[in-house]
Amino acid sequence: MQPKDQKKSKTHNCWDCGLRKKGGVNAFGLCAWWDEPKEIPSNIVDKGCKFWRDEHVQYIIEKYNGKLI
Ligand code: SF4
Repeated sequence: MQPKDQKKSKTHNCWDCGLRKKGGVNAFGLCAWWDEPKEIPSNIVDKGCKFWRDEHVQYIIEKYNGKLI
């Protein structure tokens, strides 16, 4: 697999998004992109959106306020 293909194969749905949080009334969880986290709609959870964020990046943002040095 070429590096370009690896990039394409990465999933960017809500299940892999760092902004997805547990909670809410369904199993899809909450999207923390909003100031007040909102329920992730069933028609979005497997697709994701343009605000998808890597979970490691989100961890750094939350833990270290986005600064590593
Ligand atoms: S709706 Fe977008 S930002 Fe929210 S959890 Fe899904 S992919 Fe992430």
